[in-house]
Amino acid sequence: MKTLLLAAALTAPLATPAVQAAPAAQSVAPARGVVTSADPRATEAGQAILRQGGTATDAAMAMMLALTVVEPQSSGIGGGGFLVHNDGRTGKVETIDGRETAPAADTARLFLGPDGQPLPFAQAFPGGRSVGVPGNVRLLAQAHKRWGKLPWKALFQPAIRLAEQGYAATPPLVNGVRIVSPIWANTNFDDARALYGDAKVGETIKNPRLAALLRTLSEQGPDAFYTGDNATELLRVATQSRVAPSSMTAADLAGYRAIERAPVCGTYRRYRICSMAPPSSGGVTVLEILGMLERFDLRKLGKDSPVAWHLIAEAMQLAYADRDTYLGDPAFVNNPIAGMLAPAYLRQRSALIAPDHALGTYAPGHPAGAGRMTAALSSEVPATTHFIAVDKRGDIATMTSTVEGPFGSQLIANGYVLNNELTDFTFAPEKDGAPVANRPEGGKRPLSSMAPTIVYDRSGKAIFSVGAAGGRTIIMQVAKALIAHLDWGMPAREALGTPLIFFNADGLVLEQGTWLAAMKPALEKLGHRVTIGKLGLKANAVEWTPRGWVGAADPRSVGTALPE
Ligand code: GLU
Repeated sequence: MKTLLLAAALTAPLATPAVQAAPAAQSVAPARGVVTSADPRATEAGQAILRQGGTATDAAMAMMLALTVVEPQSSGIGGGGFLVHNDGRTGKVETIDGRETAPAADTARLFLGPDGQPLPFAQAFPGGRSVGVPGNVRLLAQAHKRWGKLPWKALFQPAIRLAEQGYAATPPLVNGVRIVSPIWANTNFDDARALYGDAKVGETIKNPRLAALLRTLSEQGPDAFYTGDNATELLRVATQSRVAPSSMTAADLAGYRAIERAPVCGTYRRYRICSMAPPSSGGVTVLEILGMLERFDLRKLGKDSPVAWHLIAEAMQLAYADRDTYLGDPAFVNNPIAGMLAPAYLRQRSALIAPDHALGTYAPGHPAGAGRMTAALSSEVPATTHFIAVDKRGDIATMTSTVEGPFGSQLIANGYVLNNELTDFTFAPEKDGAPVANRPEGGKRPLSSMAPTIVYDRSGKAIFSVGAAGGRTIIMQVAKALIAHLDWGMPAREALGTPLIFFNADGLVLEQGTWLAAMKPALEKLGHRVTIGKLGLKANAVEWTPRGWVGAADPRSVGTALPE
């Protein structure tokens, strides 16, 4: 009986939106920009660009370049990313896909061993095989052309200075080195070892080769990355790697295009939320999670209720089952996005969620437009970075950028890390006789979890933006931050700092060392298998407040936020 009453109390009628805790947007604050990133030097670079009169895009791109220097374990010009842009005047949201792309000659067998079985991840990522054609420099050029104001050259200056004059190694950089340094015992990875092998927290690292390349790019433009000397060097490193040489060609590099894509948008309570479309699964999956949760009154339950976290966990597992089954590069896969986000489908998926017990198995649904595909997990491990700039015009540039795992493929060309993004493909091309949507294919972009997201109020004004790093956890970090801010009324930094719930093959994982971990017995009582574990988390956000835009970095990270 008690559970029945509970279920009734939790189920808010769809027609009556719950009272919202998040502050309504007010336009009384002085217009002033803000920047936030996962590294203080990159945040300063963004601030300097805003202060020179740069746009949000200018500042975000300067942060992307600075992060290439100071956070090489996570992201850079040897990798790719996704940018979501809001026009402050019109509220129009647009995106650029700078995702790395598999060389044309790669096949579905890319990550199969001689025995036809998927390679172990540890064997798959080091060396040339995992390197996708980098997308960030084309994305930078496209973004600057669309929304930049400062000269192209100006965006490079903070990064050039950092590479030339040096910067102090951070704990995350040294930790990244600790994780991968056994691989650097192989002389194939001498360049990585020479640059970072001896890094100690606080000690200065200089990167003159990268400084020289950045100067060349600042003077000659993006083609100097994809053709000419840099292309020759990139190809030499990737294709002559003694570990798993790449099939990349000069044509793969010269032919790379950043793609402008429509965002994926949906509603959650009285908000409109826009994020990245495939080849990132981020936007669709965040919206599916929220869509399934909409009928529950999470605000009333509050963050201290195990039932709230149970509902979130159920929606998460159902949404990830769909994501793992249906999404992939739209040039190769028919993504049934409209079907996955249709209100009737979300209601049907949500109806599987009971407030008083765990479902136990989380099979994909059958959204309209879905082909015959099969679920298979790709093996993402935490790295990546997110940064956001808002300018006084109200434009927002919110970007997640990555080289995939710590130090990517472990290969270095001209001082930058070459990504291992192709390991985001699902290694086994088929399962149970059906094709895997995210199988490797020549010219294809691997499925991502990155979810640069912007929230709009009823009037169409942007009020919040968030994004995260951490492989598959990205989607859940973003969904959790949205729930914490929009339902629980938390300011951005608190919303980011709220503990995370995630899952693996053994059941739910509660973030170690947090108050959420104390909910283990209560969640077990609801039928979940629960472990407590470390999760590699790192997010950034900006929020509109009565004081204007305020930025926030994850309290778990060394990141910062600065006003213009
Ligand atoms: N490569 C992952 C993706 O694109 C992100 C990796 C990470 O955050 O660790 O989704």
